Amino acid sequence: MAYQQGDTIVAIATPPGEGGVGILRLSGSQALAIATVLCGGAKVKALMPRHAHFRRFHARDSSVIDHGIALYFPAPHSYTGETVVELQGHGSPLALASLLTEAIALGARPARAGEFSERAFLNGRLDLAQAEAVADLIHARSDAQARAAAASLEGAFSQAVDGIHGQLLQLLALAEAGLDFSEEDLGDAHELAIADGLMRLEGQIAHLLKQAQQGAQLARGGRVVLAGRPNVGKSSLMNALARRASAIVTAIPGTTRDLLREEIVLDGLPVELIDTAGLRAATDAVEAEGIARARHILHSAQLILLVADASAGWQVEDEAILRDLPEGPRLILWNKLDLVSAPPLTPVGEQSIALSAQTGVGLDILRRSLMEALGMQGDSCPFSARRRHVEALEHCLQDIHAARDMHRLGGSPELVAQSLREAAVALASITGHIDVEDILGEIFSRFCIGK
Ligand code: GDP
Ligand code: ZN
Repeated sequence: MAYQQGDTIVAIATPPGEGGVGILRLSGSQALAIATVLCGGAKVKALMPRHAHFRRFHARDSSVIDHGIALYFPAPHSYTGETVVELQGHGSPLALASLLTEAIALGARPARAGEFSERAFLNGRLDLAQAEAVADLIHARSDAQARAAAASLEGAFSQAVDGIHGQLLQLLALAEAGLDFSEEDLGDAHELAIADGLMRLEGQIAHLLKQAQQGAQLARGGRVVLAGRPNVGKSSLMNALARRASAIVTAIPGTTRDLLREEIVLDGLPVELIDTAGLRAATDAVEAEGIARARHILHSAQLILLVADASAGWQVEDEAILRDLPEGPRLILWNKLDLVSAPPLTPVGEQSIALSAQTGVGLDILRRSLMEALGMQGDSCPFSARRRHVEALEHCLQDIHAARDMHRLGGSPELVAQSLREAAVALASITGHIDVEDILGEIFSRFCIGK
């Protein structure tokens, strides 16, 4: 694979703040030259590839900024595929900032967010799904997320995509043979092979789509909003799920003035729980603001839990809140089950769970229902994915459907081949094994600087 050396970029690759080690990363045509000057220039022994060298890091006035390890990775055997040098000094924000300033004075340019990974992709060191997995691994908030991202980084998802892509191209070749030869030449076996191939591909893509949907859901995490009248026990329930007392729980209606957020991890899935301010008529400005935000956040929820008081039964206000909820999955929670012998009647057409935030009864059922509603039931997810990948797979599946319909109805081989070609392009956009310029900026801009 041919690689390119871009202009030299530099960034502090370690997180901001104080730490044991701080790393300055340089990549590009001048990386070695700039690092050599920083390490003392010609007076000091040259850096050998992939050797750890102890060096003093100097400013232009030859004062010492820090000392540490210098590592030189010649192109193309580096993270970016370019010449890379890492200077590993102390985790001192000021020393690292000076080092960065010196590198820039010597001709390096501050790297954009994700630019190292973008270069790794452009030089074929990582495919696109793997590069995205780097960001997902960095931003993981649960073990399960980190593991799924690591699997994608290792290529688990990409290999599945490439495998199907290869079969698609074979089928395309078969379908295109129909363009050059007459059906008499090719015979029934040819038609059967295409029909069979289309059916098999459809099954495989549908399976991969399901996995990618789970992988994307896992990587994104869930968002669940609690709605309901004041005092029904929303804060208590949130605390019970989070097993922490962060929300203020009192018996006075309207205590929960703002949106309260908690992140819980359900079977490895991070779930953001949001307690709304209660959708009741505002009595003051602060509350009005909270209510406006609550309405906004309700629309972004993957699931709405409408909490009601089992000891009070279904009230007119409960009905009003229910009717006001946006479309989408929702569940009524009969809280305070400990105060009654049996839960009240649930409104027709609604699903409910009875529980008690105080005693914990029913919480396990709620956790299971949450996982199901968030699409995480069944097998654990083998890799991380993104919305973009899911959309590409959906697109691909639609094209295969179209090809199958066309083929079954005896449509023109031209059109069957065209649908297969489109399916292949959609699939290849996942790994970036095609022209994808327009999506690159969007993907890599969400990385941190230095990655
Ligand atoms: P919110 O306004 O909906 O957030 O309600 P809170 O969580 O602040 O709870 C209001 C009151 O109901 C508090 O006094 C809680 O202790 C009480 N409460 C909450 N959950 C339960 C429950 O399951 N059983 C009983 N008996 N009381 C509860
Ligand atoms: Zn509350």
